Amino acid sequence: MTEPVIYELSVPGRCAAHLPEVDVPVSELPPDALLRDDLNLPEVSEIDLVRHFVHLSQFNYGVDVGFYPLGSCTMKYNPKVNEDAVRLPGFTATHPYQPEDTIQGNLRLMYELQEFLKALSGFDAVSLQPAAGAHGELAGVLMMRAYHLAHDDPERKVILIPDSAHGTNPASTAMAGFEVVELKSDERGNVDLQDLKANLSDRVAGMMLTNPNTLGLFDENLLEITRLVHEAGGLMYGDGANFNALMGIARPAELGFDVMHFNLHKTFSTPHGGGGPGSGPVGVVQALADFLPGPIVMTEDYLFDANTGELVDDSFGWEESPDLSDEHLYEGTWYYLDMPPASIGRTKSFYGHFGVLVRAYTYIRMLGASGLRESAEAAVLNANYLQSILKELYPLPYDRTCMHEFVIEGRVEGAPDIRALDISKRLIDYHFHPPTNYFPLIVPEALMIEPTETESRRTLDSFAEAMRRIAQEARENPQLLHDAPTSTPVGRLDEVRAARHLILRWQPEDAREG
Ligand SMILES: *Cc1c(COP(=O)(O)O)cnc(C)c1O
Repeated sequence: MTEPVIYELSVPGRCAAHLPEVDVPVSELPPDALLRDDLNLPEVSEIDLVRHFVHLSQFNYGVDVGFYPLGSCTMKYNPKVNEDAVRLPGFTATHPYQPEDTIQGNLRLMYELQEFLKALSGFDAVSLQPAAGAHGELAGVLMMRAYHLAHDDPERKVILIPDSAHGTNPASTAMAGFEVVELKSDERGNVDLQDLKANLSDRVAGMMLTNPNTLGLFDENLLEITRLVHEAGGLMYGDGANFNALMGIARPAELGFDVMHFNLHKTFSTPHGGGGPGSGPVGVVQALADFLPGPIVMTEDYLFDANTGELVDDSFGWEESPDLSDEHLYEGTWYYLDMPPASIGRTKSFYGHFGVLVRAYTYIRMLGASGLRESAEAAVLNANYLQSILKELYPLPYDRTCMHEFVIEGRVEGAPDIRALDISKRLIDYHFHPPTNYFPLIVPEALMIEPTETESRRTLDSFAEAMRRIAQEARENPQLLHDAPTSTPVGRLDEVRAARHLILRWQPEDAREG
């Protein structure tokens, strides 16, 4: 790992590709069709090329490399069977413009996924359109707006959001044209009920709440909160990013939420990081179902006469199933795409991120209802196990039973100039991905740790051991933490400069700024 990467491999005349002899007449391009005289590309042999990219890939850190406790992101293991499923030719070789009768399998998968998400959440309808959690939030608040407009209540322009919220919450809400009012948290990490009451009015369109919240805490007053918001005429939006703690145990619709997004790429094990693609389906109660973004997949039962090729009955219910003793009658289900009657419209081209849907579907089918519940239980157990060890080493601002994640302060007694960032950088030297830093904003020097259910006790113990050693190093040799990481190809970066002067691609030496 410590070997420096040599990027300048170019030797004039070397080439990794062998093109066949030209077997057509050569014709010159007209000079004015050329953009430039020369193209300054590296010239390398095939083996140099392969080694370069394999080498780079080995610098990458991911869940397949090691423990990745990045809080709020649910970096659970992505089972490889998901990848086998999504690569089936029936999925990869279909085109979104194909007629419905040639993609019945794809539509069935989408329909069943909608049904699974409904069963897990208790909502009455689901749309798979949004491309990520933040996109689901935008779709959700647009539905809230459509609902109030449809109820002749256009003055509801405020959405309440707790101060512990993820940054996407106020961003998507403001993007939809709402005014954001921030609510304080109380000393137990719940929404401050007095502050909520003080801000409720007939201008409130609703509230956006993450539960469990970004401190990893289940709001102890949740039912009271949803009751108060409903009483004031508002709707409850649930940020479902933390559904991993509840899956198979509690249904958000029954807790009083009216609309919620799922982060399939977090809860349902599809690869993320590096920007996606993700998937953020939205579930809603009946009162919002007509506003869902579409198209969504619907079904119709039918009865088909194989002798005549005719549809005998295209909408029988299973209860009143007709007599099928005639062997030429076949019953089946027809899957079709439909736009909800008062839809806010499309939020994504075609049908959302279909590949992510296949992976999430596979994950759900592999685990089944009891397996999903077991993963939520193990996620909560792992987080509490780690919290109980780490709270002896670092300050724990909200000392409560946590859900699937928890937040400690990156501070060490007796080492005043050590910050969360130093601890995280040192963790890299111990070959762990750092936790989320400096979020949620209400905890100073926040380190947000989410172990997920897929980690073994041995992994949790070795992470805890690294955190113990780092606390000790902080007292005995703080410079070690300030200099970290020292085991990586590049050391401590100037993060401000890196963000301001983004260089994301290779540039020839002569084009680089000094
Ligand atoms: C990840 C996350 C989001 C945003 O979801 P994306 O899929 O990244 O857009 C919103 N809220 C919370 C609490 C999250 O953890």
